[in-house]
Amino acid sequence: MTISVLDRNRADEAVQGDLGDLHDAAAQVDDELLPCRTNDAELWFAESPSDVEFAKTLCRDCPVQALCLNGALERREPWGVWGGELFLQGVVIPRKRPRGRPRKDEAAA
Ligand code: SF4
Repeated sequence: MTISVLDRNRADEAVQGDLGDLHDAAAQVDDELLPCRTNDAELWFAESPSDVEFAKTLCRDCPVQALCLNGALERREPWGVWGGELFLQGVVIPRKRPRGRPRKDEAAA
């Protein structure tokens, strides 16, 4: 059984805000059209920057992408990929940084 991003956060609705609109919209389309239901949901909360970028790419084809993104912005999602964007502490960030200290040549850039 695949647990999607939507399912993962259902238990946290009281804390993160109402996901009812997104669940209702997602219920109108086949699960096969929802990338976070047909792929490993861990991609949307991955540690690996390349996995996060892959999840963002998969969201582009999602029929509820705009609703997902708008809801995540309103709820100020603490983390994860939502609507094709990476959230950290409630804001969209361009990319996930790899673990560890930045390389010296990256810090100068
Ligand atoms: S936009 Fe991405 S995270 Fe949101 S429902 Fe679609 S696949 Fe899942």
